[in-house]
Amino acid sequence: MPDSPIITGVHHVTALAKSPRGNLDFYTRVLGLRFIKRTVNHDDPLTYHLYYADAVGTPGSVLTHFPHPHAARAKHGTGEIRRTLLAVPMGSMGYWAERLESQGVEATASTRFGQERLAFDDPDGMELGLVEGEVVDVGTPWDGDGVDPEHAIRMVDTVTLRVPSAEVTGAFLVDALGFEAGESEGDRQLFTLLDGGPGRRLELIDDPESEQHPMGAGTVHHVAWRVPDDAAQLRVADRLARANTAATPVIDRVYFHSIYFRVPGRVIFEVATDGPGFTADEPMEGLAGSLVLPPQHEPRRAEIEAHLEPLDDEQED
Ligand code: ZN
Repeated sequence: MPDSPIITGVHHVTALAKSPRGNLDFYTRVLGLRFIKRTVNHDDPLTYHLYYADAVGTPGSVLTHFPHPHAARAKHGTGEIRRTLLAVPMGSMGYWAERLESQGVEATASTRFGQERLAFDDPDGMELGLVEGEVVDVGTPWDGDGVDPEHAIRMVDTVTLRVPSAEVTGAFLVDALGFEAGESEGDRQLFTLLDGGPGRRLELIDDPESEQHPMGAGTVHHVAWRVPDDAAQLRVADRLARANTAATPVIDRVYFHSIYFRVPGRVIFEVATDGPGFTADEPMEGLAGSLVLPPQHEPRRAEIEAHLEPLDDEQED
């Protein structure tokens, strides 16, 4: 019998991008998220790692990007995370349809699993969408970038995986991670955690036909799932070991502690702790005000700063 879930929902989704400034502009000015962290990829410190979230960096509201000015645009296929749906409060879809149109973002409406969706892509082709959810009491909307806080994006609602065998990947989600298999619609099946609310949904699409492509700008690199603390993360690691899945050792990412592993079908998952949180190295009011580096890369600050494209006009003076 499958174990009950230890993971409690999405923590963040991380994607590759091309232009750092274009990425920042889209997620803040167009989507209205708060820019909460200006740092570098710990594993490749000459590349930015930019974080966007609600007003206070609530786990589950976080989208992060590795923009690299020389990245090639990705082709999408199977064996990857595809559309990431973001939850907006009930009654907000009309507002967003108008807003996206006014910003020149082409969006397509559809209905799946009884939910209306508005699908669109970011400037690099990362597949995004909006759905209405019961999120009024969830997170803290940001009002700094021109989106009405009443309609602000609150959190990641659903991630979609397209895999060569939904049967194999689905069995792993249930047996190793505690997901519950839910309803199917066409070639896709819903998998849920706990109450199946926003942030606790995964759609699995069976796609044995499409090609698998290398990652590039617009590819989702991984989805991270939340656990409350280090002890819960160890329990997930134990369960993965019992499922013969190798996870990395625990890595300190300053804002959370992480393990990484691949699920059948090639997709990378991370399990990240809720703490210490984004105020670990700068105050809440000053989040993303300057470049912060993890301690191991601080000695290279001058080289890193000289290499990275400025994000603000002021920095070019
Ligand atoms: Zn991550």
